[in-house]
Amino acid sequence: MSTVKYYLPEDRIPKAWYNIQADLPKPLAPPLHPGTHQPIGPDDLAPIFPMALIMQEVSTEREIEIPTPVRDVYRQWRPSPLFRARRLEKALDTPARIYYKYEGVSPAGSHKPNTSVPQAYYNKQEGVKRLTTETGAGQWGSALSMACAFFGLECKVFMVKVSYQQKPYRRGLIEAYGAEVIASPSTETQAGRAILAENPNSTGSLGIAISEAVEAAAQDPEAKYSLGSVLNHVLMHQTVIGLETMEQFTMADDYPDVIVGCTGGGSNFAGLAFPFIGCNLRGEANVRIVAVEPSACPSLTKGRFTYDFGDTGHLTPLVKMHTLGSTFVPPGFHAGGLRYHGMGPLVSHLLDLGQIEATAYDQLETFAAGVQFTQAEGIIPAPEANHAVAGAIKEALRCKEEGKSEAILFNLSGHGHFDMQAYIDYHAGVLEAYEYPEEEVAMALAGLPSLG
Ligand SMILES: *Cc1c(COP(=O)(O)O)cnc(C)c1O
Repeated sequence: MSTVKYYLPEDRIPKAWYNIQADLPKPLAPPLHPGTHQPIGPDDLAPIFPMALIMQEVSTEREIEIPTPVRDVYRQWRPSPLFRARRLEKALDTPARIYYKYEGVSPAGSHKPNTSVPQAYYNKQEGVKRLTTETGAGQWGSALSMACAFFGLECKVFMVKVSYQQKPYRRGLIEAYGAEVIASPSTETQAGRAILAENPNSTGSLGIAISEAVEAAAQDPEAKYSLGSVLNHVLMHQTVIGLETMEQFTMADDYPDVIVGCTGGGSNFAGLAFPFIGCNLRGEANVRIVAVEPSACPSLTKGRFTYDFGDTGHLTPLVKMHTLGSTFVPPGFHAGGLRYHGMGPLVSHLLDLGQIEATAYDQLETFAAGVQFTQAEGIIPAPEANHAVAGAIKEALRCKEEGKSEAILFNLSGHGHFDMQAYIDYHAGVLEAYEYPEEEVAMALAGLPSLG
């Protein structure tokens, strides 16, 4: 029995993104100005984002049309395949049907180009010359620099210093796409200089790199800033994943009982799950939705649902989200894309409303799951995606125990070809099972902004 592939023809790329804000039983809490703590309007965001994306951020329209030039780029790798993991099912001896949507087929190797392409497109439309951004392990930096190359924009990437030093291959890819890569904290920005003055040996964090990229954009009239996760419009761009999957399930004559995704800022999880959650919210279906995060950076399972900054330098608006505190620097586990202190407000809100569940795994469990997956299916997952694999395997084993033949769907958000050192370390037995860093989280939470 071989793996089965459900592959839509290319003219079946969705024509519109799905905006879950249209179906929320209770609207999102508004973002607040970082200084005045008053709700912000579109004009407050105009220095750093193009108006088209700001309007998408606050839109409550259910469908937002995907521009033709964006669909033309999507067509290179979309629709992405949906696989039935028959060999994994056999290896687990489970009655469950396991499916995965594979986003590693994009040129950058993950789901991230689904949003980098429209973001570059809208910025170009509005006359922007260059984009600034941050990147942790380098996946977002490579996705955005690729999109900038396609649409003729310059791109400046602040890369967390520890990754810049330890993961040179993603840096090499970003440079090959024509972007400039700067190790963060850097001396180029006020935010970076402040961190270096306090700690000259700082190895950086996503929160610091975001501050640098936002500052660099705000000070350059020809530049805007671009974020690869967390924001409403980013999560919406990713819904092409779930919309395609719905059609592929129709081809397979099946429907998922449970959907699993890994969560850093929430974008690949949302991309797969939101169209299905929309059906749940409209009373058309009743699918369980499970978010999986690292136990070393557990914003959904251990964080507080409150207003916090998106960055360490406190330049971004305050948003209501599950957070570990904006000064929290997670331990150096290998899933760099999941090392963010907060969580997308939409994902946080849905957890608060009881529409999704959240679980956490340590990296030894996730690498064990990833290796088992590789040996059954051949694809080596990104360390982030291993969290989704672990979650799906756990559901499949539960089905076995309960004798239930459920359909389990998960998002394989990217391949791990640039992360082989992590697999080498895993096999050499030198990966650590980082515990939940309780003291550091308590300290960071104590520094939450008071809105009294
Ligand atoms: C960036 C990344 C993630 C985490 O980001 P989300 O916004 O939570 O999806 C997960 N998987 C891969 C492959 C990534 O590159």
